[in-house]
Amino acid sequence: MCEGSLKKPQGDVRRVTVGGGYCDDDGMVDIPGERTDATQDTTTSKPPAPETPTARPASGVRALVVEDEIALAGVLGSYLEREGFEVHLCHDGGAAVSLARDVDPDVVVLDLGLPGLDGLEVCRQLRTFSDAYVVMLTARDDEVDKLIGLSVGADDYMTKPFSPRELVARVRAMLRRPRPLGTGEDDGPVLRSFGSLSVDPLGRDVWLAGEPVFLTRTEFDLLAALSERPKLAFSRRQLIDHVWGPAWVGDEHLVDVHIGHLRRKLNDEASSSKFVRTVRGVGYRMGTGQ
Ligand code: CA
Repeated sequence: MCEGSLKKPQGDVRRVTVGGGYCDDDGMVDIPGERTDATQDTTTSKPPAPETPTARPASGVRALVVEDEIALAGVLGSYLEREGFEVHLCHDGGAAVSLARDVDPDVVVLDLGLPGLDGLEVCRQLRTFSDAYVVMLTARDDEVDKLIGLSVGADDYMTKPFSPRELVARVRAMLRRPRPLGTGEDDGPVLRSFGSLSVDPLGRDVWLAGEPVFLTRTEFDLLAALSERPKLAFSRRQLIDHVWGPAWVGDEHLVDVHIGHLRRKLNDEASSSKFVRTVRGVGYRMGTGQ
């Protein structure tokens, strides 16, 4: 089942029932358990009113929330809408892929446990046509490790229960991309070349031997960070600061997953690594293309 855009959130509700849990003053949604069956909570939910006015992103930024717990989907949708997003809700994995084709979202909040296709398969299919920023929602902490291992191309993960405010903060950090690095005094020419690889940071285009390479937003941002300072070895934490933002907290090996995807798309073997080099004990740096 899919819905169109949400109505504007109203009211000054400070405590909201969500699937038997609540949304308290800290915005923490407490969710008692994952459900993938047809049993749905019909509780009406409203997010708390904002305490301070928030800046709105440019119009035309679209978010797709795929979550089968209808009340939670509504809460997340309302938070995102309050940030100025055009929000689309979907409660079914199969419908999510076709809705994403129609909507072309900039951000996808994707629950792992879904009826129809599960979140992993939705993410795999999404990645064949979309570079949207994908935040996956998991029911348990240990699932995050598993997900990172499976590396289906999600940009970020959050474990339930989580704060919708934290989710929105991460999405807002994404919207501020690309992040300028340092003072700019090391800036090279607009087009950065590394052997057969060319990176255009302004147009966000990448070519390999003259052929365009399709990268996700995160893969491009990693390549842009590395290629802006090609002589600098970046730690995983430095790359996270540049790409995900300094407020991001989680398993830093998420970087390795996206570097792995990037290398694969650049036909760059980890052993030879012409373009993205592993710096043992540190992290990564740009290769020369040789
Ligand atoms: Ca679910």
